[in-house]
Amino acid sequence: MMLQTLKTYFGYDSFRPLQREIIEHVVGGGDALVLMPTGGGKSLCYQIPALMRKGVGIVISPLISLMKDQVDALLANGIAAAAINSNNSEADNRTIIDLCLHGQLKLLYISPERFVVEQSRFLSRIPIALFAIDEAHCISQWGHDFRPEYTQLADIRSSFPNVPIMALTATADKITKEDILQQLNIADAKQFVSSFNRPNLSLQVCRGYSAADKLKHILAIIRLHPHESGIIYCLARKTTEELAAKLQLYGISASTYHAMLSPNERNRVQDDFVNDRVQVVCATIAFGMGIDKSNVRFVIHYNLPKSIENYYQEIGRGGRDGLPCETVLFYNLQDIILLKRFAQESGQTEINKERLNRMQEYAEAQVCRRRILLNYFGEMSECQCGNCDVCNNPPEQFDGTRYAQMALSAITRVGEQIGFTTTIDILRGNATREILAHGYSQLPTFGVGKDISFRDWHDYLLQMLQMGLIELDYKENRHIHITALGKEVLFKGKNINYLK
Ligand code: ADP
Ligand code: ZN
Repeated sequence: MMLQTLKTYFGYDSFRPLQREIIEHVVGGGDALVLMPTGGGKSLCYQIPALMRKGVGIVISPLISLMKDQVDALLANGIAAAAINSNNSEADNRTIIDLCLHGQLKLLYISPERFVVEQSRFLSRIPIALFAIDEAHCISQWGHDFRPEYTQLADIRSSFPNVPIMALTATADKITKEDILQQLNIADAKQFVSSFNRPNLSLQVCRGYSAADKLKHILAIIRLHPHESGIIYCLARKTTEELAAKLQLYGISASTYHAMLSPNERNRVQDDFVNDRVQVVCATIAFGMGIDKSNVRFVIHYNLPKSIENYYQEIGRGGRDGLPCETVLFYNLQDIILLKRFAQESGQTEINKERLNRMQEYAEAQVCRRRILLNYFGEMSECQCGNCDVCNNPPEQFDGTRYAQMALSAITRVGEQIGFTTTIDILRGNATREILAHGYSQLPTFGVGKDISFRDWHDYLLQMLQMGLIELDYKENRHIHITALGKEVLFKGKNINYLK
């Protein structure tokens, strides 16, 4: 019966992992929390039970454009579906409600705002097959996409005690998952977590690259993928614009996408990208939800993302067709400074700092990166994937105690009143105006590290920051302070290793 429905309405011969189990559970009346990566096939998990149960399936979805795509696809498959939202005229919405009242719809998509209004009106008068709450992470303050209107969904369970509730999302860490269950009052919901592994995405991290280094690397990647699509995620709108302009100078067809574009412009960029009229989109995190393009061949992060959830969601837009997709993450000190500040100002400082730390740990990983990602999403794994830079090029370490001591000593001698650049200038013996003005050229540490390039020093300092030997004072011009651990290295000769 289930398989028959799959074949008749959707034309597929078999279920994907977990789809069958989820559908059986919900058809039997159970609540479910479904965690499945984007493109994993969540929609069928509520569409088929809606077809198999009595009444209409109510799908609560935050994005009007997604609703429209889904309704169109369902109608094309001969399934009576409609969407109620603020884009419709009230007359249209009225007609749709009438269809529901006459039992003539199988699936109804509705925005959370509208649902709240309707739940005590017509919804209380019709048989309901199930509730599916799409993008369910939006209900949690801990999720990265919190939407206040979602919190009003908390009454569904008490208003409709006998209707199964499904919460579906592609992105939720442990506390978000628990929060979803709690907020929706479905603590006993069965949890279905499908594998998040996407073996066809290669993983690479480039640490400490300057803007020029990044551009060179990006151009090389694009050259390896002539006429193939890619996304470059940037932290700031300005970066998307500057980067796209640079790529255009090199003859690459590149567009920008960010929240300041008008809805029309956004649709145009999205459409150009999906239809291969533009090769590369330089985008902020605004780009993504609802983009259905199977053949993205590279996803680059120009800056470090805020969290592993964001990162995984974004690289997850590559290689949906299962063919190889290259992903590269650039990561440097400026990113950390900026993201720390965002975390500080976010109103959820602790949790966002923790997320950033986990992101940084990933970037600094010395074990298979895929293993870290899978572990993060609760899939314990010991894998050596063979498709990440750590697996392919195990990082080599060397005893960095002496270099660390040079840097720590320079910082100590100036009373911890300098930042990264001045520290490196002292170590390399660069007599810049600032150095001379402060008399730093008289220091015994002046020039002790002149054989090491600026870039390597930068990298070593970044590693010292990661190892907790130093910290940055964000209130005070990002001056470097030496931690207790740093003092052990400086005064007690505690050994540390650097990655090459
Ligand atoms: P999600 O909502 O999890 O991002 P979708 O439900 O949009 O993913 O499904 C992604 C794609 O996979 C869709 O094109 C869908 O038709 C297809 N799909 C889903 N289930 C199956 C299946 N059992 N067999 C083949 N294709 C499927
Ligand atoms: Zn690996």
